[in-house]
Amino acid sequence: MCRGGAQSEFHARAHAAARRKFGREVFVRGVVEISNFCRENCHYCGMRRDNRSLDRYRAALDVLGEALLHRRPSVVTDINLQAGEDPVAVREVALPLVRLLRRHTKLGVSVCLGTLDPDSYAALREAGASAYILKFETAHTDGYELREGPGTLQERLENIRWLAAHGWFVSSGFIAGLPGETPEDSLESCRLAETLPLTGCSVSPFIPGESTPLAQAPRADIELVLNCMAALRLRRPDWIIPAVSALNIGQPGAGYRRGLAAGANLATINLTPPALREDYLLYQRERFIMDEEHLLASLEAVGLRPSTTGLIRHLESQRTPAPSPLQLA
Ligand code: SAH
Repeated sequence: MCRGGAQSEFHARAHAAARRKFGREVFVRGVVEISNFCRENCHYCGMRRDNRSLDRYRAALDVLGEALLHRRPSVVTDINLQAGEDPVAVREVALPLVRLLRRHTKLGVSVCLGTLDPDSYAALREAGASAYILKFETAHTDGYELREGPGTLQERLENIRWLAAHGWFVSSGFIAGLPGETPEDSLESCRLAETLPLTGCSVSPFIPGESTPLAQAPRADIELVLNCMAALRLRRPDWIIPAVSALNIGQPGAGYRRGLAAGANLATINLTPPALREDYLLYQRERFIMDEEHLLASLEAVGLRPSTTGLIRHLESQRTPAPSPLQLA
């Protein structure tokens, strides 16, 4: 794996590729974690159904609506609704919240709600969500099975393709450095991402999750994560590649800034009501919470600035227009 001078040069090339396409602008999205109920049992994730140490919640619609309509930071152009795989929260929280955002704001809306059925996807689209984030977690089929990833890898990939074929902007993602995986396995995840009909892809460092079967496993090497991000950027100059907040674990501030300087072009501010945050347990209770102030400071440190154009707005502007009837004739 590339380190030292060659690595700096590699990241600089990825940064330059992102800047050529996107200028100094980074998209800023707010994330709201609407439910931590989950029917899946992924070994790496703190929300897995077997974790009995967690207080489960579904956020109240009026609390979320109030926070998003009246108290969101002004740099936020898009909202992402995230949850465990919880069809009840899709019906009772996500759908009405997407409608509310559509009715009262111009925010772009993406959702990250797990593998659902076609009717639920259609209802979310109808309500006004435009992008679906469905991570394939790892390209390593045996690892996926061993860690009880959601459903099967095959099914996850089929859902990604189905969503893209049904009018969604689809973003995916994987966890780099899962226990038992080699750097070559992570590169395989980069290669798998490139075969999918995506508008973007995230790379998350594996962080051992409290109260999970992998609690004692070593944390991912952040260099591997940054190298995967740079590799994706160089292969896909037009993709949306987030700097994930977990880059802050281990090297607070520094890891995140390095992600922004290795080709990332999306940053996320956490807008989950503070009372609920602690139970949205992906890995550790002491998460680094990215707020507006930290984000703006990180962007400035690497010479970047928040985009005034929304992420969904941008994707829509890039969509190849449907051929006009004249062209078809
Ligand atoms: N349930 C939804 C979305 C939220 S799960 C879904 O299945 O798509 C949140 C995401 O956090 C997962 O997709 C996974 O990629 C990531 N995650 C969970 N545990 C993690 C860990 N220990 N280290 C790194 N990423 C993790």
